Amino acid sequence: MHHLHCSVCYNQLDEAVYRSPGDRSLTSLCRIHPGVTAVFVCGDCGHLQTPAIADVDTYYDAQYDILVDSEEEDQIYEVRDGLPIYRTEHQVQTLLGKLALEQHTDLLDYGCAKSSTVRALCSSSANVTPHLFDVSTRYIPFWEKFVNPDNWALNTTKPEWVSRFDIVTSFFSLEHIPTVAQTMRNIVTLLKPGGVFYCIVPNVFGNIADFIVVDHCNHFTPTSLKRLLSDAGLELQEIDESAHRGAFVIVARKSIGEAMPASSVPRLDIERTCVELSLVADFWRNAASGIRNYESGLANESRIAVYGAGFYGAFISASLSQPDRITCYLDQNPYLQGKAFNARPILGPSELPHDVKTIFVGLNPTHAKAIISDIQSLAGKTLNYFYL
Ligand SMILES: [Zn+2]
Repeated sequence: MHHLHCSVCYNQLDEAVYRSPGDRSLTSLCRIHPGVTAVFVCGDCGHLQTPAIADVDTYYDAQYDILVDSEEEDQIYEVRDGLPIYRTEHQVQTLLGKLALEQHTDLLDYGCAKSSTVRALCSSSANVTPHLFDVSTRYIPFWEKFVNPDNWALNTTKPEWVSRFDIVTSFFSLEHIPTVAQTMRNIVTLLKPGGVFYCIVPNVFGNIADFIVVDHCNHFTPTSLKRLLSDAGLELQEIDESAHRGAFVIVARKSIGEAMPASSVPRLDIERTCVELSLVADFWRNAASGIRNYESGLANESRIAVYGAGFYGAFISASLSQPDRITCYLDQNPYLQGKAFNARPILGPSELPHDVKTIFVGLNPTHAKAIISDIQSLAGKTLNYFYL
């Protein structure tokens, strides 16, 4: 019998804490991927893990085209006082708030993709010499614009990079790497003594959607991050849960002299983490069965709309036993209206077709009812709503 092992501490994993219903999974880009998502909790370090999708290398090389279409395309992090703050800009400001860059800095962006954050950082700080590493050739056209070709590497890091870097960064990359413990040890060899590892990964408690995305093989928790860094020989400086919404910002340092003895994570913290993770699993299990129960009460021919062309809307679509009954998605975001999602149009709420009487609300449950009750164009209509 084949056993799964924790990718952080190598402990043997027990039964899955969650399996997706049916044979459709969701990716972090809200796309439907064939196959079941199984999620495992490690009782030894509190790590949450999803077995990597079968064709993981092909997936990243060919399908993972996040923001590769255009150079300018950038995700909005939040809208503050009516003005959009872009994710790249927020990541640069967060980094500058935590790391001193007064002196010349050799920086490696590990698993860099387009490396938009480091590119923006270099344009605001002349002290940084950027180096890049990733596993796909598709980003080279972006790298050529700001990095000397001698300073990037594909697939394996360069031998001359050992003990070379003042800072190694990793922006939303470790969650994709099945052999993450090995990767961390490699990163540590590339740091100078006293060098800093700066990293952002999704926080599954801050954004529970991360729990079920099939292309994130790692879902880190504070306890599993502590174990990962300590085992790699890094000294943790900070895990910040609030600087970047839905993510952990981590700062760790390679010791200058003798490696620090590995520090152990308190058992009680790990137990608490496991309990919290099982509550998130309960949420998704109940959400999936609730969707199917409600659907089973609908007439066979009845068409439905899904409110929300984002992650929760995609989850509803993947969980329905007859997804073909979806007529359209509704969304208030004017940038989404007129586009398509899962081969259905995204419409403004006022454009809801007259024959559609049932709406599955694909919004964060904490805010869903308040958001729907504020939509004037839906208020006068007799509609049936399903809430997660
Ligand atoms: Zn573990």
